[in-house]
Amino acid sequence: MKIYRDEDADLATLAGRTVAVIGYGNQGQAQALNLRDSGVAVIVGGIEDEYARQARDDGFTVLPIAEATAQGDILLLLVPDEVQRHVYAECIAPNLTGGRTLCFAHGFNIHFGLIRPPTEVDVIMVAPRMIGSGVRQRFLDGMGSPAYVAVSQDASGRAWVTALALARGIGATRAGAIETTFAQETELDLFLEQATWAALTRALILSFEVLVEDGFDPEMAALELYGSYEAAEVLREMAQQGFFRQMRLHSRTSQYGTLSRGPRVLPDSMKRTFRRVLEEIRSGRFAREWRREQEADYPNFRRLWEEAQAHPMNAAEEPGRRLFGTSPSEP
Ligand code: NDP
Repeated sequence: MKIYRDEDADLATLAGRTVAVIGYGNQGQAQALNLRDSGVAVIVGGIEDEYARQARDDGFTVLPIAEATAQGDILLLLVPDEVQRHVYAECIAPNLTGGRTLCFAHGFNIHFGLIRPPTEVDVIMVAPRMIGSGVRQRFLDGMGSPAYVAVSQDASGRAWVTALALARGIGATRAGAIETTFAQETELDLFLEQATWAALTRALILSFEVLVEDGFDPEMAALELYGSYEAAEVLREMAQQGFFRQMRLHSRTSQYGTLSRGPRVLPDSMKRTFRRVLEEIRSGRFAREWRREQEADYPNFRRLWEEAQAHPMNAAEEPGRRLFGTSPSEP
């Protein structure tokens, strides 16, 4: 991995350039605040809503997106991925003249050609590996949070310099900004969501169903599976101590059980399914399916959510949540 640090990035390259943060949500607010604290001129582009009020309360000038696009030299497109192409087509493209920089925090729309900026515009990515509150908090703590950086179009010859300066402005080069491509970032992100997290999610659901069908108390099953935070702690320890090394925190019975049964529960043949998922991502098949789903107003997505909300795990987890003092929240 090629990792860039503060000394590889020059904030001075942003001097005299205005960054227009389009969308003041999870990432928008954190990145706008961090950039401003780094001495960068920031304006916010958005629709008149709660987020716009928040941006004004935070001391930013908030303009309609088209106007912010016209005034910004660097545009950080931080509205949700599903709405980016509509916002781009309606408000940004008509006001996007040459010499500007379009910066994304996720590669999906560029990689799959849903947004096709003109060739005279720089297209870059600065994609934090953390939710916005973490990006802000770690900036305030002085640590910064890692991010991916990539360039898909370098019209000016300065695209990398700009990407690294932005990464420094949000605090990413303090922790380390990792060089990648739009393709790699997008495919990796989707693969994790569709294979890794899908398998883990499914493993927890099936475990719950087996335990309950075989007579275990549903509330205890939910508590054991994820409600007690043990699963969350295991993931944290994997990151901190190492994937296998953290196993030493558990009994030998646990280590032997996990290592000996694992290949039977999820055999090597499952790699074929994982590869098919990756192929669907790489071929653009998933992107096409997801676009059709959006255009049809999410019929399958709604059905899947209804099924998820009706699952008995939702009721079974409540006592555990009360036990740990976690207040229930709407999905
Ligand atoms: P959010 O959903 O938190 O923020 C969305 C912002 O866009 C809000 O200000 C919202 O206002 C506005 N918005 C939503 N719909 C529209 C619309 N139709 N027209 C104009 N504005 C709209 O997004 P995120 O910060 O989560 O995601 C932004 C980008 O960052 C994405 O590319 C995402 O992949 C990437 N990213 C996100 C991470 C995360 O942790 N969330 C991590 C790394 C990258 P309102 O809803 O009021 O319209």
